Amino acid sequence: MSLTQDPQKLHLEPAVPPADVDDLRTRVHGPVYAAGDDGLGAEVAAWNVAVRHTPAVAVGATCAADVVAAVQFAVAHGLPVAVQATGHGPVRNAAGTVLITTRRMQGVAVDPHRRTARVQAGAKWAAVLEAAAEHGLTGLCGSSSDVGVVGYTLGGGQGSLGRRFGFAADTVTAVEIVTADGSLRRVDATTDPELFWAVRGGKGSFGVVTALEIGLVPVASVLGGGVFFAAEDAAAVLHAYREWAPTLPEEASSSVAVLRLPPLPDLPPPLQGQTVVHLRYVYCGDDFAEGERLVAPMLDAGRIVLGAIVPLLPTEMDAVHMDPKDPMPGWEKGMLLAELTAETVDAFLAAAGPQAPVPLVMAEIRQLGGALGRQPAVPNAVAGRSGAWSVLVLGPMVPELADVLPAIGRGVLDALRPWAAPGCMVNFLGDVSGPEEVLAAYEPADAVRLRAVKRAVDPADVFSHGHAVRAG
Ligand SMILES: Cc1cc2nc3c(=O)[nH]c(=O)nc-3n(C[C@H](O)[C@H](O)[C@H](O)COP(=O)(O)OP(=O)(O)OC[C@H]3O[C@@H](n4cnc5c(N)ncnc54)[C@H](O)[C@@H]3O)c2cc1C
Repeated sequence: MSLTQDPQKLHLEPAVPPADVDDLRTRVHGPVYAAGDDGLGAEVAAWNVAVRHTPAVAVGATCAADVVAAVQFAVAHGLPVAVQATGHGPVRNAAGTVLITTRRMQGVAVDPHRRTARVQAGAKWAAVLEAAAEHGLTGLCGSSSDVGVVGYTLGGGQGSLGRRFGFAADTVTAVEIVTADGSLRRVDATTDPELFWAVRGGKGSFGVVTALEIGLVPVASVLGGGVFFAAEDAAAVLHAYREWAPTLPEEASSSVAVLRLPPLPDLPPPLQGQTVVHLRYVYCGDDFAEGERLVAPMLDAGRIVLGAIVPLLPTEMDAVHMDPKDPMPGWEKGMLLAELTAETVDAFLAAAGPQAPVPLVMAEIRQLGGALGRQPAVPNAVAGRSGAWSVLVLGPMVPELADVLPAIGRGVLDALRPWAAPGCMVNFLGDVSGPEEVLAAYEPADAVRLRAVKRAVDPADVFSHGHAVRAG
């Protein structure tokens, strides 16, 4: 049975006997769709609309028992398993899989005394930030609170509080996961230390996580925001940035991006259709006057088109990056840098600066370091600790660019290779040529250890979709 990527030409021969799909329907609470069923496309639609999933079967899980039934069904039929919460990081079509959608699993329960939250598989960061804020706490969300907590955290999870508190995965205290043997396990540092090490950073390689217990941090407000500089000052701003950012304490985080913004009406008028340089800054120390003093030199680096650095609640921090909320077709790829020298900035500007003829929406440099560079008390497999900076390029994967965008994006990263650090944050791996490129994201010793855990827990590569480490 083969399914093409074109939904107009969906092959209607079923991958599994219809009677077996009907039987599965009697064993799960959520909806079940087979290839060709009405409603399948809506059930599996991804936020990143460049990817259209054509699974053999889709299961809309409502609870852990549904996930168990779906995984057992997939294994019994020799089908790989894929999982989707929001579709912010789909990598590629989950063709021919049993695709488990988790968006109905929305539970978030905060324990203010332990400073933890139990978060079900389908919850987005916005729900956690809201629930935690009632107690003066917050979670280690990334640039957009529209992203799913579980997918983000399993891939590391690097956000604006990370230099002070580490990766989101560093806060995880327990993982509820359905593994390839079809069992639901609660894994923590004492029950299964190797799997607990691997799943925090190994993303979806080891099973479907039904819930995570994550740590929360006592941050009730920050000083932060985004400032857009005119394109003609790109060189001045980026060179100022490379000298300024390394002087920041761990309470401050920053990134800078060249944005080629589309002429969308929901963007502020000065930004519509414009190329700008976007400085993002967050200070999460107690003394906001110090936070203002720290950022002041950067605000003089060029002509400001729009933006401000202001006190923000953690629930307002999407204002820092202003990531798009609406679904979009995206192609992305990232890398790490060991250093950001004057030559690196010149190479970045030549490859992706405002004058470069590249159809990228964003070419971004994020500052890492601080707690992001250190292992947490219970070490984990998170990739990217050795980098001082992360670079991400992102473009619109529309039909007229589909043939050229990957080569252009990779070309920008290739221009920065002389300053690369080995590996990549898994959440920013984006387009990969195959499983070797996934494994290369990790420290070599961690890659060996991850494969050993994979061979023990999922020797048949049931979980091989996306950025999964392979056993075989
Ligand atoms: C606008 C935007 C902003 C982002 N900002 C950041 C950022 O600041 N920092 C950062 O680190 N990353 C960031 N990312 C990347 C993001 O963290 C990853 O794409 C992440 O995988 C998204 O998870 P999701 O569940 O929302 O997406 P989905 O596409 O639903 O899932 C992506 C993958 O996550 C895994 N996964 C999801 N749910 C489960 C589960 N229950 N069990 C096992 N595996 C699962 C699977 O491998 C799946 O293929 C951003 C992405 C976007 C689109």
